[in-house]
Amino acid sequence: MSEDFLQQNVRYVKSVGEKRAEVWAEEHGVRTVRDLLHFYPRRYLDRTTVTPVERLQERPDPVTVVGTVRRKNIVPGNNQKRFELILEGERGGQMKCTWFQGIWWVRKAFEKGDRLAVHGKVEKYGRWHSMTHPDFDKLNDEGAILDTGRIVPLYPGGEAMSNVGLTSRSVRRILYNVFKEHGLKLKETLPEEIVAAYDLMEGRVALRAIHFPKSQAELEKAKRRLKFDELFLIQLMLAQMRQQQDEVVGPRFEDPGAHTEEFVRTVLPFELTGAQKRALADVIEDTQTGTQMNRLIQGDVGSGKTVVAVAAMMHAYDSGYQSAFMAPTELLAEQHYQSLTNYLRPMGLEPHLLVGGQSTSEREAILKDVNEGRVPVAIGTHALIQEEVEFDNLGLAVVDEQHRFGVAQRAEMFEKGEQPHMLLMTATPIPRSLAMTLYGDLDVSKIDEMPPGRKPVDTRLRAEKRRGEVYAFLRDRLEQGEQAYVVYPLVEESEKMDLKDAENGFEALREQFPDYTVGLVHGRMGSDQKDNAMEQFKEGTIDILVSTTVIEVGVDVPNATVMLVEHAERFGLSQLHQLRGRVGRSEKQSYCILMAGYKRSQEAKQRLEAMVQTNDGFEISETDLQIRGAGDFFGTRQSGMPDLKIADITEDTEILEAAREAAFDLVEEDPHLRADAHQRLRRRFEDTYAEHGLGFARVG
Ligand code: ADP
Ligand code: MG
Repeated sequence: MSEDFLQQNVRYVKSVGEKRAEVWAEEHGVRTVRDLLHFYPRRYLDRTTVTPVERLQERPDPVTVVGTVRRKNIVPGNNQKRFELILEGERGGQMKCTWFQGIWWVRKAFEKGDRLAVHGKVEKYGRWHSMTHPDFDKLNDEGAILDTGRIVPLYPGGEAMSNVGLTSRSVRRILYNVFKEHGLKLKETLPEEIVAAYDLMEGRVALRAIHFPKSQAELEKAKRRLKFDELFLIQLMLAQMRQQQDEVVGPRFEDPGAHTEEFVRTVLPFELTGAQKRALADVIEDTQTGTQMNRLIQGDVGSGKTVVAVAAMMHAYDSGYQSAFMAPTELLAEQHYQSLTNYLRPMGLEPHLLVGGQSTSEREAILKDVNEGRVPVAIGTHALIQEEVEFDNLGLAVVDEQHRFGVAQRAEMFEKGEQPHMLLMTATPIPRSLAMTLYGDLDVSKIDEMPPGRKPVDTRLRAEKRRGEVYAFLRDRLEQGEQAYVVYPLVEESEKMDLKDAENGFEALREQFPDYTVGLVHGRMGSDQKDNAMEQFKEGTIDILVSTTVIEVGVDVPNATVMLVEHAERFGLSQLHQLRGRVGRSEKQSYCILMAGYKRSQEAKQRLEAMVQTNDGFEISETDLQIRGAGDFFGTRQSGMPDLKIADITEDTEILEAAREAAFDLVEEDPHLRADAHQRLRRRFEDTYAEHGLGFARVG
């Protein structure tokens, strides 16, 4: 009956002991028997997955090779010693493996005559096919298993693991014993109906098969089941959040009133696009139901999200409620304050800004006005809500650039009682699979239509030697009365140097363009100075604005038509796309020029190419996801998700959709997982999220 052994410390497992347990926990987070069972192989070897040495070719994706060590040498090299290993294949043929780091350790790790599996990217140097720093395993005693056609699992290793003898072989032996002792006690955690409906392998069978597969077909089924498990737990959490949200009481707004009408009809000098109208209609509908709205507006930079948010805030005001507008940084909050002031003043309304750096008396006066309901719209960072700003009657909270707040932060934002409606906005278009996970608990409105008359930004990649040409082009645009941004990267570690870079660039541009005004903004300036420069750029007194990435999001100067990005190879793809979104905001043709050095990593090349090839934010984000992988895309940690060990959000979309459907159906049927048949699942769920320290595993 009891599955207590799952919680047992691995140290008490046969042939583990204290030393190994310590390393295992340290290196791979394996602490309990359950962790051990979920310590999945990183790769499998059987004859079908091994490439014979004589058939090696240079290629970008890694391959696995099995061979015998013929020679090993430390080679002096020009300025760096290296360790070389010559491997001979099963049927002849030789290849080279090279290490530049940890050479003394690897030298000790191998003996002549050892049988090895190496895994890595094959490159050709001279006549040698070779791998640099391959992943490897010694197969000395298990070559035989491989020859009989068995599938041999290889586990995550490394120096620390191998120092305590935790090789793939010993891990297999440990697991074998665990299965022998406890295997039959493992209970199914998923409800039977789900296992049947989604044609899943039984949990216990899958766990055994992932470690000891009898065939490729069995292995595939086991992987599918375990991926489903991981994704299902995440979706269950989202379904639960969703369920809780649906029960949260929200203010009941009235039909759109005078200010909403006036803003849309008179203050805005243009008509809302169809997509903007739909998003606004969604908001109006959500806010009249009596439950809390949780809506995400997703739309490319410049698609007009802010305008929709302002209309929503006027709608709150018309119903007698205050709004909070939260930006990810203070600088952005200040910029939004500027544009919101422009929008609201014609209607006789005054938004208020709350940021650090305001005097105590100023701050207190604003807090008092907010508290007594005299402030219709308060603008700030998310400190607005997390700290003790007490609103008289907060009805709507707008969060700009939502992707910077993860699920966990979102969940922590509010707690008890009637909750303000939440309107989240993101300019980072996310692939559907990721959206289902990151924003799986939200309703989404897409603004998939640009304001009319926009021309796609013309993007060019230029090397340093063409700088003269680039400046000549810039001069042309300035002569037409247009303006330009010149952006320098700011990397935290080398902030000082980068700043120097931007300052030098600023001086150089001043020399080049003596008859134009060049301005400079960077993060080290006081907010007054920054505001001042931005304001001048907006009014057109500054022609060229040199900046570090502080202008990344939210600046709106339609007359700026050139975005010149220096050291473009150092920027991330979504950042480049955001920067490009600063231009192309009027009917004039705009340009994005990416200046890049010759030293470009493979990834940098892919990023720059993607920028030149497409203007579509959605395609950009798909490419970004492919280049970086899902884990890194937003950082799972930041997003509050448990790490995925086996599932891959980008690749396992079909399983993800099935898991989502199953989880949402289950929560609909048994919202608090109270049924007897769901108790094991409920415990698994609580364990999972307790481990991740999340505060929202509040089942029932
Ligand atoms: P986002 O927040 O999505 O980046 P904004 O709301 O800041 O976009 O709008 C970008 C620019 O487009 C602003 O200059 C805004 O005035 C303008 N704009 C927004 N909606 C429209 C529209 N329907 N027609 C014309 N211009 C628009
Ligand atoms: Mg915006």
